[in-house]
Amino acid sequence: MRNSNLLQSHIAKLRKRNLFWQSVGSQAVQDICQRIEKAYQLFFKHNKKGVRPPGFKKVKKYKSFTLKQAGYKFLSGNKVKIGNRIYQFWKSREIEGTVKTLTRKRTSLGELFMVIVVDDASNPDVEIKTGKIAGFDLGLKTFLPCSDGTKMESPQFFKQSLNAIKKASRQHSKKLKGSANRERARKNLVRKYEDISNTRRDWFWKLAHDLTNRFDVLCFETLNLKGMQRLWGRKISDLAFGEFLQILEWIAKKKGKQIVFIDQWYPSSKTCSNCGHVLEKLDLSVRKWRCPSCQSVNGRDENAAKNICAVGTSTAGLDDLRRTLSAIVV
Ligand SMILES: [Zn+2]
Repeated sequence: MRNSNLLQSHIAKLRKRNLFWQSVGSQAVQDICQRIEKAYQLFFKHNKKGVRPPGFKKVKKYKSFTLKQAGYKFLSGNKVKIGNRIYQFWKSREIEGTVKTLTRKRTSLGELFMVIVVDDASNPDVEIKTGKIAGFDLGLKTFLPCSDGTKMESPQFFKQSLNAIKKASRQHSKKLKGSANRERARKNLVRKYEDISNTRRDWFWKLAHDLTNRFDVLCFETLNLKGMQRLWGRKISDLAFGEFLQILEWIAKKKGKQIVFIDQWYPSSKTCSNCGHVLEKLDLSVRKWRCPSCQSVNGRDENAAKNICAVGTSTAGLDDLRRTLSAIVV
């Protein structure tokens, strides 16, 4: 018997005796057990790297629960029944496909959200519209250097709003603990953080639409976010690249475009995109270099983007597509 199952049957017994355990559905309890098991497995696997065991979490701090097949029912008119209560919701997009899980989330402002995961059977082929493939590097000076030489400047939303946050955070820490004023200041601070992430998300959607309009196939390096965070500190979270990729993947799927990921260990910066010569090493500070073999001058970002494009095209079995595409371009 698996440990999460043991825990589950123990809680099932508790549920019969204690009303508190009945405040969420049995499926949600099951989900909590699975989350705990997952956290422990991560801990056993990575404890040498400093991952700590899962700790006790207050009910107040618990932000979400997940239901699987049971415990909810969609009614007409944007209403959903969860447990014994009926909630009306605003639908941000149509629910397509079969519902796999339903997660309720509570933000720090006390707002409720419903996240629905669906199994989408449709799998559109890549439609050839623009006839273009592009590779993108993850830049720091520029947000997304593109293999065609264009650059998207990195928006420093966080920096701009940093002062507002500093102020709000100072206000918060000055207030007496447990007071109504402190709670108000906390909500104000949370709103400031939400402002940034909303502005950023908005910009991501626009950018994703722009890119998918310009290209049919978009190649990226898989991300080593943890490693990058260590290397570059807060800046990378500011750029929130992972969130952007999620949005882009969603839009690409909708529009029948393809996103290709190449191995992050491929030396995309050190390889000459003109002749394939690989440098021994290349410092992070070097923005431009001359290839010792073919003498061409490579701009760091654009060169990497070109390599990512080439590798992405060949590794994803897109050679046929590339031929078709270049036939169109020619
Ligand atoms: Zn070269």
